[in-house]
Amino acid sequence: MTKIEWTSITWNIISGCTKYSEGCKNCYAQRMHKRLTGMGQEKYKEPFNKIVFHSKELSRTLSKNRLVFVNSMSDTFHEEIQDSDINCLLAACAIRPLNQFQILTKRAYRLPDFKYPDNVWLGVTVENCKNKERIEYLKKTNAKIKFLSCEPLLEDIGTLDLKGINWVIVGGETGPNARLMHPDWVRNIQRQCEQQNIPFFFKQWGEWSCAKPDNNKKYKTAVYKTTSIGVSSLEQNLLFYKVGKTRAGSLLDGKEYKEFPAWELWKGEKNG
Ligand code: SF4
Repeated sequence: MTKIEWTSITWNIISGCTKYSEGCKNCYAQRMHKRLTGMGQEKYKEPFNKIVFHSKELSRTLSKNRLVFVNSMSDTFHEEIQDSDINCLLAACAIRPLNQFQILTKRAYRLPDFKYPDNVWLGVTVENCKNKERIEYLKKTNAKIKFLSCEPLLEDIGTLDLKGINWVIVGGETGPNARLMHPDWVRNIQRQCEQQNIPFFFKQWGEWSCAKPDNNKKYKTAVYKTTSIGVSSLEQNLLFYKVGKTRAGSLLDGKEYKEFPAWELWKGEKNG
């Protein structure tokens, strides 16, 4: 099982990765890799910056009727992963039609080079304006379900052309050095999803919340200044509290958004 709310299990065929864009700064996989190395796990014995494709994993038995997040501990389209290995991985997804596989990347430029089985959901990370260009590579693919993961959302990403996109996930950063996420950045994406009829999944605020804690505990605070680049008409000097992921929760203006792509797009049996 996994703690990632928008999937049910993870399937890690690749270990190791290297930082690629701003969203990688406090990489969760790197922290987890270190922990697994310390626990003596064979698959993670190499340092994080060594990219290893574990072919044996391709024949592993997976529980049926599951949403499977592929390579939560790396990036499937890392420069050091051969096209032939990616094709083997996609073939391994195709022969398991009862599962739906979710593949997420920051190396979007490689996406159009492959053909995707109908049970693969393909996504790109869009953590800031600069990386909106990844969406165009995603749109060039034949993937039946195309999604965006705006996590960790690092700024107001402005206008999004969501034509051809089937799902949008938003999340704030977690972990000890997490950066904060302004509510207006989230509202902007949620509003555009609603206008364009795209399912919206708000995963979490992350470590920081601008809701005043309802207990007397002292939390670390940070002030968000309106002078920050790329942001307009935000509330003056918004105060954030570092209350932790659980306490910060995932309510946006009192509402929970946990939507998934439309059922008719799913191929094979529905997940239980
Ligand atoms: S691409 Fe993903 S796994 Fe790789 S360094 Fe960046 S955040 Fe970590």
